[in-house]
Amino acid sequence: MKWEGNRESDNVEDARNEGGGGGGFGGGRSIGLGTIAIALVASYFFGISPTTVISLLSGGPVSQPQQQSQQAPGGARGPNHAAPAQDRQTKFVRTVLADTEDVWTQIFRANGKTYAAPTLKLFSGSTQTACGTGQTASGPFYCPGDRKVYIDLSFYQLMQQRFHVSGEFAQAYVIAHEVGHHVQNLMGIMDKVHSAERQMSKAQANAMSVRLELQADCLAGVWAFHANQARSILEQGDVEGALNAATAIGDDALQKQEQGYVVPDSFTHGTSAQRVRWFKQGISSGEVKSCNTFEVKTL
Ligand SMILES: [Zn+2]
Repeated sequence: MKWEGNRESDNVEDARNEGGGGGGFGGGRSIGLGTIAIALVASYFFGISPTTVISLLSGGPVSQPQQQSQQAPGGARGPNHAAPAQDRQTKFVRTVLADTEDVWTQIFRANGKTYAAPTLKLFSGSTQTACGTGQTASGPFYCPGDRKVYIDLSFYQLMQQRFHVSGEFAQAYVIAHEVGHHVQNLMGIMDKVHSAERQMSKAQANAMSVRLELQADCLAGVWAFHANQARSILEQGDVEGALNAATAIGDDALQKQEQGYVVPDSFTHGTSAQRVRWFKQGISSGEVKSCNTFEVKTL
């Protein structure tokens, strides 16, 4: 992925020094995988459910094996002083966020709306959010209440080590997916899904959450389409890398990988094939309206 030298966003807050400590994913813990996924925004009529996010955040079983950490090597070195690699990563995050701002601002404008950019907060260990306490173990997430995307960058190591997903575009895709949830929030989709879910059985609500997540994947694809058109960010192998990410983190793949563990949101994000399909849909069409996961019969 080509990103160096592109605009960097000012909407990144760095709270890695305040953290509740213990960065890193503890040994066997799985992440709020859903969050990992790929991409975002959808039609103006559907959205994301805050309940999913909230349950991730508010320390359901997800955050349980709160490590026992897993001090980063060099953990003794005091409140995180970013190694050079981390600095590059921070720059990368700022650049990808800026790219989502540019793309979504344009898409909203083309539809007569104004895009209000989210803040992206880097944290380490745990952090307070309008949705409750955010934990590293929950993976990246979006909180509709404060309109912030939360990421502990150690998640990227986990993607690599545990799921063997590497490549910067796959990492960008994670951010684009969370920003997609923000777009769903701005469009009122989250609210709609949330209130609909209150009338539903648990199984129905889960099915709804899957649609919300797959839509975020599709929206991430829409972002990638436009980003590439405007700035030629894609290099050979990038899309395959992101598709591998989608495959690696589909619920079915995860369940295999996670046998013996509880994966609380395991069925709320769609199978690998579904995630791949929706990301492809977004990146090939570049159209928000192609992301209407709420109206299709077969996901
Ligand atoms: Zn998500």
